Amino acid sequence: MPCDLAIVGAGPAGLMTARTAAGLGLKTVLLEKRTDVGRLTRACCEQLIMDRHFQGDTVRLEGGAVVSLENGFRVPYQGPALDVVHKYFVSPAGSRIHFAHPDRSPIVIKIDKGALLGGLWDECARAGVDLRSGAHVHGARDTGAGVELSVTRSGRQERIAARRLIIADGVNSRLAGRMGITSGRSCMATALCVIYFLEGAESFQPDTLYTYFGRAYCGLAPITINAGRQPGQTSLVVIGNKANPPEKLFRAITTEGALAPKLKRARIAGRLGCAARACMPLRTPAQGNVLVIGDAAAYVEVEMQGALACGFQAARAVAAELAGRAGFEDYMRWWQRSFEFNGDDWMQVAQGFALVPAYGDDELDYLFGLVEGEVLEGTYNQYRSPRLMWGAILRHSERIRAELPALHEKIMNRTQVALSDML
Ligand SMILES: Cc1cc2nc3c(=O)[nH]c(=O)nc-3n(C[C@H](O)[C@H](O)[C@H](O)COP(=O)(O)OP(=O)(O)OC[C@H]3O[C@@H](n4cnc5c(N)ncnc54)[C@H](O)[C@@H]3O)c2cc1C
Repeated sequence: MPCDLAIVGAGPAGLMTARTAAGLGLKTVLLEKRTDVGRLTRACCEQLIMDRHFQGDTVRLEGGAVVSLENGFRVPYQGPALDVVHKYFVSPAGSRIHFAHPDRSPIVIKIDKGALLGGLWDECARAGVDLRSGAHVHGARDTGAGVELSVTRSGRQERIAARRLIIADGVNSRLAGRMGITSGRSCMATALCVIYFLEGAESFQPDTLYTYFGRAYCGLAPITINAGRQPGQTSLVVIGNKANPPEKLFRAITTEGALAPKLKRARIAGRLGCAARACMPLRTPAQGNVLVIGDAAAYVEVEMQGALACGFQAARAVAAELAGRAGFEDYMRWWQRSFEFNGDDWMQVAQGFALVPAYGDDELDYLFGLVEGEVLEGTYNQYRSPRLMWGAILRHSERIRAELPALHEKIMNRTQVALSDML
């Protein structure tokens, strides 16, 4: 007898699908290759994002739970929580663009993602989900009537039959590709990312998220610093590629870069890495009996609350499908309108706004200096932050034109698309 639903991947998307589906009365099996979902093996900054209407939801942490204000679910969470109330973009010479809410309510809340996932896993068990950890799904076939999965668990091959399949296997999703669902989807680059957990890096405030822009810092991409996983620790996020691996960049950042004086006494207490492929989003992530959700269908990432929202909506979509309604169609409409990367212009806007490598260190110092002292709206959103930043900088447009006409022209050329969208 096939089960109603098989789910591949026990990240926030897969776990939320499983819990919701079991709650709706579906016979559900969840397959995860890791053996302990509560122990993170992959880099994540573990910040619960407080932006409204961001990546499928608005979430809050209240009453011992992550509460969804738009989708209407609750996920119990009993772990630590640290409010992060300031965000700074910092130029090579140290000029800062400040983002914060007027009441200093959190921009993000640093949580323990392992505790969140472990709690959801326990809830799935209580809801009657057939939980299989250490189960690697290496193939799946849509038979028309349902799906058949090939699974290796404890060295043994298993076959699992289900009426519907949810693929939630994360940013480097392999399964959707093997089933031909992602054919034609272009991938732009693979980033190698390592988060270093540092002890003794005392100049950084735990309630602040810092991003450092410019060649002076010796990174390939902007360098992010935020609170670490343990009290007193600091996380340093380094993004590289094959030619410039994060380890090499880390050495340069901590010995030669502009942050080196602040980091020279720091000791590495731990690290988590990952490779992440930046692929165009799957705008229509359903095919036959299969739906692809979460990071597996995204441009890079949906973030934790986006993954939970995907799981919640996907389970309801499957229940509707099995009741003879067009649940996958409804899901795709929700997916397309809820995630900014599914819009038509986000890529052009993002490119137009990019600071590095478009602007040299002196230019960044000049531009950041124009708005130092102002406080911009508190936001984490990686599409909204540059809009706000450029909005503030361009209020000084006439001054830039008078003082540095070549820089003014460069800005106008690069941000043409972004500006017309913003003004
Ligand atoms: C450096 C970095 C920092 C980040 N920081 C934040 C942050 O601060 N806040 C935030 O909200 N988000 C952050 N994210 C994004 C966040 O981690 C993801 O968006 C989120 O975890 C996606 O959830 P998911 O369930 O779609 O996929 P994942 O969490 O990746 O889960 C996929 C699961 O599928 C399993 N799997 C894969 N293949 C198979 C297979 N063949 N068989 C069985 N199981 C399989 C994996 O083991 C994994 O458990 C960050 C990501 C990175 C890379």
